[in-house]
Amino acid sequence: MKRFIFIIVSMFLAVIATLLVTGCTSREQLTFPAELIDFTFENRAPFTLDSRNGENLSPDMPVYHIFLSIDKSLAMYSGHLNLLYPPPSREAPGKVLFRLYPNLLGGTLEVSAITINGKPAEGKFTGGGSCTLEIPFPAGTETGSLIEIKLDFQGTVPRGLDVGYGVLVLENDILALAHFYPILVPYREQQWENTPLVLYSDPVVGPPAYYFVEVEVPRTLSVVTSGVLTGGKETGKEKILQFAGGPARDFFLAASARWASYSIETQEVTVRSFYLPEDEASGVLAAQKVLDAINIYSDLYQEYPYREFDIVAVPTNALGIEYPGITGINYRIYNPSGNINGIPNRALFESTLAHEVAHQWFYNLVGSNQAAEPWIDEGFAQYSTWQYYIHAYGKGSADGFYESLVSRWNRVDGAPIPIGKPVAGYQGKEYGAIIYGRAPLFIEALAELAGEELFKDFIRELVEDYSWETLTTELFKEAAEKSFNMDLTPIFDEWVY
Ligand SMILES: [Zn+2]
Repeated sequence: MKRFIFIIVSMFLAVIATLLVTGCTSREQLTFPAELIDFTFENRAPFTLDSRNGENLSPDMPVYHIFLSIDKSLAMYSGHLNLLYPPPSREAPGKVLFRLYPNLLGGTLEVSAITINGKPAEGKFTGGGSCTLEIPFPAGTETGSLIEIKLDFQGTVPRGLDVGYGVLVLENDILALAHFYPILVPYREQQWENTPLVLYSDPVVGPPAYYFVEVEVPRTLSVVTSGVLTGGKETGKEKILQFAGGPARDFFLAASARWASYSIETQEVTVRSFYLPEDEASGVLAAQKVLDAINIYSDLYQEYPYREFDIVAVPTNALGIEYPGITGINYRIYNPSGNINGIPNRALFESTLAHEVAHQWFYNLVGSNQAAEPWIDEGFAQYSTWQYYIHAYGKGSADGFYESLVSRWNRVDGAPIPIGKPVAGYQGKEYGAIIYGRAPLFIEALAELAGEELFKDFIRELVEDYSWETLTTELFKEAAEKSFNMDLTPIFDEWVY
């Protein structure tokens, strides 16, 4: 998530009107197929509509089949989850853990009618509060093969942006439904990744999974989600839409009747932008900048994994928030003559988009524990944003963004506070200064040590090796030492530990 404000010296970059759009462009109405898919766990074909690597669907990832019904007030929802769950290892304890994030985010999420392989099961909260739900497997559950977990859920959505940057919110007739369903807690290295949550960071640590999500909503709403639309049908005042996506570490959904939309289609990817009608120029510009960013990062790191990327204007106190295949952008930064906390939107809009797109590689494709080691995904998203400016405009024009990293670190007077702490290890403004300022500068220091070409190759290899895996500080150090053929303990001592 990006919630800190960059002062870009070369502000003019953000407003270069790139209206000469390549590919096929259109101002579109949302259309949907008239048919519904009869989804089964055996039929993985819908996922190939989203994945660029469709022929290599992983059989070892969980598959979420969610049916979600959104109340016409938009403030309540209910649903059913049918989850195909590969137990993480034979040694895994006989239970499964879910996180119910809405209970932390100012809303509620309740779970009922749980069955595991058809047998009734009971959940109980663990670790304090009502966020982590532990469900022991009923006696006799066969854990050597895929487990089918079924449950019902009911949720409420808060109004106002006070909690967790308003990622889960109904505000000004826009519904942002972040983390709305029970999300699996990953089990890695004999441990549940159940790091205590801090609300000024991104809370979700999810395993990569496939999602088939059916949504029943009032007919007048546009629904924008992770994944792609694969089917739909009108049913009186409602409609049912079906979406498929993955691998992905979460599934985000936003809905409103207010947005206008614009899309750019190339051979590789369709970028769609959903914005308030009064912000059309920025809405169109967003699609073009995001396409540029996708192309730049695809060249630098690895091909963008999906066929679609959506940008959606949402109410939030963050500047933008990353989700798989989609980003929610604060609708207040679309007005080019506006500002947020005194920082002009012209300085914020493009860097926010470039930062959030970079998270598709660092957070979603290459996973990391965002609560325990936030420097990895945020540091690389910031470093990538600098790379975006270099590749889009040239080195000189990117200096402004680089300076913003330095001035961010200077908010704690350039104090050598380690970048490798968990979110909860930072006090006050330290988190923003160190994770968004010092961490990308560490990556640059490492690049200087290795040399530009070697470093580029190293990052490309790292992304390949850790695609849909979890990268940690130690694994990163090990891989870098091997690639650079040097002991990196001194530079890690200086910056990380
Ligand atoms: Zn971020």
